[in-house]
Amino acid sequence: MDHENPLSRRQIVGAVGSGLAVAAAAPASAQAQTQAAPASAPTNPTSKYPKPPFKRQSQPWPGLAGRMDPKPDHGETSYRGSGRLAGRKALITGGDSGMGRAAAIAYAREGADVAINYLPDEEPDAREVMALIKAAGRTGLAIPGDLREEAFCQRLVDEAVRGLGGLDIVVCNAGRQQTHASILDITTEQFDWTMKTNIYAPFWIIKAALPHLRPGSSIIGTTSEQAYDPSPDLYDYAQTKAATMNYVKSLAKQLGPKGIRVNGVAPGPVWTPLQVSGGATQEKLEKFGGMTPLGRPGQPAELGSIYVQLAAEDASFATGQVYGSAGGSGQP
Ligand code: NAD
Ligand code: MG
Repeated sequence: MDHENPLSRRQIVGAVGSGLAVAAAAPASAQAQTQAAPASAPTNPTSKYPKPPFKRQSQPWPGLAGRMDPKPDHGETSYRGSGRLAGRKALITGGDSGMGRAAAIAYAREGADVAINYLPDEEPDAREVMALIKAAGRTGLAIPGDLREEAFCQRLVDEAVRGLGGLDIVVCNAGRQQTHASILDITTEQFDWTMKTNIYAPFWIIKAALPHLRPGSSIIGTTSEQAYDPSPDLYDYAQTKAATMNYVKSLAKQLGPKGIRVNGVAPGPVWTPLQVSGGATQEKLEKFGGMTPLGRPGQPAELGSIYVQLAAEDASFATGQVYGSAGGSGQP
């Protein structure tokens, strides 16, 4: 498998045995996740990852990360945990690829058990994520199904709660994005598809999850720079991201007194299957991310730690916030 945890068990035990303060302070269950950071010079973010021009490529929706060229980096070999989410139980929609996979890997290595949802066509990507969660020594649950159905969203939450023995982190990350040059090209069926996936599903999932969420729990929505600075070809998608940013802020006010935090992540252009399966034109793909000050798209791995930060105990005063990661394009 090409996504093995790079450190062997012996190396991890060695790091703990060498008396690292971080390892000594972590609970026993989290120690296996704690790894020594190697000393190295900082990496230049402009040259850290592939830059445009990219090869033209297209996959049928929803696309597979495993078939992209270059393959996205979700932190498979790089993310190091330090017990920040020890014992937590997380549900991540769209956890098979992209930002959702980066969050799933990071959460598991931080000590959380993780359930992921994805579409049945994404089974090959989901299997890789399950193997990575297990390699981190955590419980992984794979729950395929279509979020456009309310009954499925309810079942998803039920299965996650039952399978994990509770729930305290909900990441509503799944999304539908299709480029359309004109509003006249968007059928009612297409519009409905985008709304159901991006707006209704989080509404249904959060309603189903709320009775299970204790004080200290965390809800995270994936919004976008599109919420603030919409592209002309993403008329329907961009407004769902504005709605996501908005529900994060309204729910944070509603659920704050109950001790439940609600935050959002706003990525800029990130190299994921959504972009190569109808989310962007071939012209845009070739130049993807080149307009950012860093001159390249982000990789999902560069956002994993944001999902960790928003869920972690030490971010206990952060609610109603939207954290951006857009290579310098400045939104939010
Ligand atoms: P991705 O293709 O890896 O992830 C999207 C996931 O959504 C898919 O893996 C799929 O499992 C899930 N999904 C879509 N429709 C579904 C349905 N009907 N039922 C169940 N699952 C469904 O791409 P990504 O870019 O990582 O997307 C994750 C989130 O990030 C999305 O909300 C997207 O809008 C947002 N986002 C992406 C970018 C970007 O440039 N890639 C930028 C800003 C925001
Ligand atoms: Mg996917």
